[in-house]
Amino acid sequence: MKKIERRALFCLLLSAALVLGLCVFSFRFVLRGGRWASFSGNRHLYNSKGQLSVGRVLDRDGDVLSWPEKDGSRRWYDGETVRKATLHAVGDPNGYIGTSALVAFADRLSGYNLLTGAYSPLGEGNDLYLTIDARYNYIAYNALGGKKGAVGVYNYQTGEVLCMVSSPTFDPESPPEIAEGDERYDGVYLNRFLSGAFVPGSVYKTVTLAAALEQIPDLYERRWTCTGSTVVGDGAVTCPHAHGEQDIYDALANSCNGVFAQLAAELGAAALEQYTEKAGLTSRYTVDGIRTAAGQFDFSSATEHQLGWAGVGQDDDLVNPCALMVYMGAIANGGKAAVPRLVLRTQSPLGLPSLPSLTKHTKTLVEADTAGALAEMMARNVAETYGTGRFPNMDLCAKSGTAEVGGGKAPNAWFAGFLRGEDTPYAFVVLVENGGGGSDVAGTVAAQVLDAIVNGY
Ligand SMILES: [Zn+2]
Repeated sequence: MKKIERRALFCLLLSAALVLGLCVFSFRFVLRGGRWASFSGNRHLYNSKGQLSVGRVLDRDGDVLSWPEKDGSRRWYDGETVRKATLHAVGDPNGYIGTSALVAFADRLSGYNLLTGAYSPLGEGNDLYLTIDARYNYIAYNALGGKKGAVGVYNYQTGEVLCMVSSPTFDPESPPEIAEGDERYDGVYLNRFLSGAFVPGSVYKTVTLAAALEQIPDLYERRWTCTGSTVVGDGAVTCPHAHGEQDIYDALANSCNGVFAQLAAELGAAALEQYTEKAGLTSRYTVDGIRTAAGQFDFSSATEHQLGWAGVGQDDDLVNPCALMVYMGAIANGGKAAVPRLVLRTQSPLGLPSLPSLTKHTKTLVEADTAGALAEMMARNVAETYGTGRFPNMDLCAKSGTAEVGGGKAPNAWFAGFLRGEDTPYAFVVLVENGGGGSDVAGTVAAQVLDAIVNGY
């Protein structure tokens, strides 16, 4: 009897292990099957050059950006500038750009599903409509004028990314031979918008200001006199010129380093860290499955002087352009913004559309009252410093940045912000590496792209 009991127990354990194994497999199959089937060794989906041989990539209004020919070879849009401007969104012939549609959305392009797997009844794969408009990318790429950098614009209510450009780039129809250490193609396979991290410069003052608005009760009553050089801790923090007497509105519009360094030192490392994390600048976002890069901020070992520089976005701060854009969206949207997304919809060869994807929202990146105050001050920046005439028909709130990068190179130019108004729920970020002045250079890129989006030029 004992023997039989033991055997029964043994059988029971075995079958339990089998059921558990099946559960784990089924769970992973449902979750990851698309990625398994899209493995680049799958000859049903990839041609002899390793290119995805099924599925078309289109922009939001139906321009075909990349498609497979009958022989399985892959082609790109008929127009070199558009091909270059959409390279990082669409993908390159070798699949080196890991965040591009051809790599990251290969399962959706192949038409993979749980019933028929990667087998597509007509053998064509799916049409994948991106949220971007190729025309906006074209304008942004031209506006960058051959400089390295990134441009992103998105709808902070729906999450749809309307424009996403990364430079340097190349023509996927004739990819260049890139020699090691060739400066012209530095980091060319990286989408700087999603995967880069850069010294933010004065755009970071929007975070220091959020902290100051909540932590320093008499902030609005305070006055500062900038002589062009302010002692903070054991050294001087300098401004390009003396800003004279200012209140907090003037200090932001002038982008006075002296005032913001003093505020940062007064707030302290713990508060700066808390507000930077809250703003999402140290977080990663998941954009339709693509993980963005996190920014890097380390206040823990900073001296008072270093903390001052950190508060104006210099020192060792690094920010991811996409995360900065989302923070701008949150300021615009009362504290929370939509998480960006790149896939508008997919459509099978039989004309069956995909289920609409739901808009996800961030946690609270900034308190609603603080967001309102920040927006007012950022609107004043435009009125007093950047010039409203450059941005027709736009209720623009913005902050420029001119981030010193050292090494005798020109500073990185930034321009980040958002539009208010029910019909124009757009947040944006522009980075021009070694571009020079933030408002002049990056602001002009932003103006051209926003003009196209808002005024249809
Ligand atoms: Zn100053």
